[in-house]
Order: sequence, then C-alpha cells, then structure tokens
Amino acid sequence: MASTAALTTSSLLRRSRALRGHVFPKPLPNPSSINLARPSPALLRLRRFMCRNAASGNEEAAAKAAAEIADTGAPTIFDKIIAKEIPSTIVYEDDKVLAFRDVNPQAPVHILVIPKIRDGLTQLGKAEPRHAEVLGHLLFAAKLVAEREGIVDGFRVVINNGPEACQSVYHLHLHVLGGRQLKWPPG
Ligand code: 5GP
Repeated sequence: MASTAALTTSSLLRRSRALRGHVFPKPLPNPSSINLARPSPALLRLRRFMCRNAASGNEEAAAKAAAEIADTGAPTIFDKIIAKEIPSTIVYEDDKVLAFRDVNPQAPVHILVIPKIRDGLTQLGKAEPRHAEVLGHLLFAAKLVAEREGIVDGFRVVINNGPEACQSVYHLHLHVLGGRQLKWPPG
C-alpha cells in the first residue's frame, strides 16, 4: 500500500513537471522515501503548485495536479475542516455529513456538503454499491441546507468529477448554489 502510494506520488510529480513547463526547483526524492502521513518536501511542493495555480485562476492546471494525488490516500483540506483543525462556517451537521460555506463562493449562497468519512469516495466516479446510502443522505442534506438558506425554490446542486470538470478537492462534495438567477448551460 505504502509503495503503491509512493509510486503514484512519484509519477504524479513527473507528470506535473511535464504539465505546463512549471519546473520544481529541487530534484525529486526517492519515491520510497515519500511518507503521506508526514508530507515530504516533494508533496508539499506539489501542494504549493496547486495553491498557486488555484489562486491565480488557473483552475484547470490546479485540478490536473489535484487529480494526480486523488487516490494516494493523502488527506485533503476537508479532513482538517471535519476535524475542526481549520475554521469553517458550518451550516448543517449530522452523524454522517457536514455542510459549510465555500471559502470562494460562486453565488450568494454556496455551501459544500461532504461525507464525514471519505471511505474511498474521492469523487462520484469512484462510488460503489456500499456508498448508495451515504449518497442519498448527502442529497437529502443538500435539500435541508437549501431550506435553511431560504433558497429551496431555486437552487442548484453540482458535483465536479475529475480534472475535466475542474474538481480540485478529492473528497466527494456537493456544491449547493443559489441566491441569484443561475444560468444554463454552465461553463
Ligand atoms: P471542487 O473544485 O473540487 O469541485 O470544489 C472544491 C471547493 O472547495 C471549491 O469551491 C473551493 O472554493 C472550496 N474550498 C477549498 N478549500 C477550502 C477551504 O479551506 N475552506 C472552504 N470553506 N472551502 C474550500
């Protein structure tokens, strides 16, 4: 498991370097030395790359880089939010799901609804039969959130799946958007 994760991390670093001419300033470490529990300098450099691109509006490059570590088991920012290690504005919580305001809202109401336990659900495309219950629970929680936010008569639920959909955090999440006239088709 650890070696699979290390190889995946190694290959993602190579591919990330090739992505768009961004070159990491230091040579990469031996793959077997990469410890996901205690992020190595290589993983931290990759995370910095993702943050830079997301912050500069290059969502596609950031999403590609994020996809590379999706299935390594590496924790995401949402793990810290669930553990309440970093602040978030929680609007709904039960034993299975957590809903909080998006830090970069795309509408007056923009809430993220996530399962508290990821259980392999890095993205919707990875769903298996055992996930059916929590998937239904997430959708129902989205409706409860819309009610609480006063947008139940007009809201949108979005799941970005994979790099081509610009998914940037690999812990399944539903975006609940509303509070303004939403356009169709989306971008
Ligand atoms: P995705 O692009 O993966 O569909 O959506 C990830 C969402 O997570 C983005 O809308 C982004 O703004 C949000 N996000 C990323 N980091 C944080 C954070 O630290 N706090 C909160 N509240 N939202 C975040």
